[in-house]
Amino acid sequence: MEGQSYLDLKQFSGWQPCNPKMVGSGVVACRPQVGPCPNRCADCFFGHGRYYEDIWTPHIPDPKWVNENHLIVRMNDGNDSNYCREMVMEVAKMYNRVFFNTSKPQFDFGNLGPVVFTANGRNTDGDIVLVESCSNLMTVRIRLNTWNVELVRRGVEHYTARDVPVLLTFMAYYAEKCYDPDSYEWKKRTKNPYWCVKPEARIQLEEQLGVDGNLIRTCTTRESHFCKDCGNCKLLYERWESKHGRWKIDQKSEVQEG
Ligand code: SF4
Repeated sequence: MEGQSYLDLKQFSGWQPCNPKMVGSGVVACRPQVGPCPNRCADCFFGHGRYYEDIWTPHIPDPKWVNENHLIVRMNDGNDSNYCREMVMEVAKMYNRVFFNTSKPQFDFGNLGPVVFTANGRNTDGDIVLVESCSNLMTVRIRLNTWNVELVRRGVEHYTARDVPVLLTFMAYYAEKCYDPDSYEWKKRTKNPYWCVKPEARIQLEEQLGVDGNLIRTCTTRESHFCKDCGNCKLLYERWESKHGRWKIDQKSEVQEG
């Protein structure tokens, strides 16, 4: 098994504590890895001491509870599915409905579930990864601020042309100074304060990038930062599941029987 693994599969963490942003959304977080995510994406709050729980303890919700309640599992909230990927896949097999998160363009997770790919993780303002083979992508997450719009536009055009839904994620910043103080305000978001995009700047960005609620969506709504009010991860997973679900379940049965 690659990387750090102190996992005892019998030690489930139940459903508490859940990522407070995701409570009540129908999606729960699972993170078998411990320690910081090695990808070190810029301004990721998971990796900079502002996570909601101890990163040195795995977070693995009880599969019985998850499956009986038809919940969807988001693998690697706080880490990357391509880090310790064999362990991640082993844990994912316990759940009926799973999607993976990664900022690396490696999407083969043994048909256990689709992938949410963050296309401009490490170099949010300078580089975006444009992948041609998109068949296992549930959605592409593109990180957005008021000064990287043209880069984001390239990503939006590339992925929507391939029929892959895009989730625009408004960046928030935990720095003393804000790069664009006219468009950002310092306020609490879920648990910690950040420089957050102002409502009027957000609306302008949405219009510039053609957010349509179909192929071009936003992470969070204008009114709320909570997943239960947004619902995009659940909706996009279910859209993917309605296209591929039967095949995926067959694959899982084979895995379990083998
Ligand atoms: S897209 Fe919506 S449901 Fe998914 S993580 Fe963002 S706020 Fe939560």
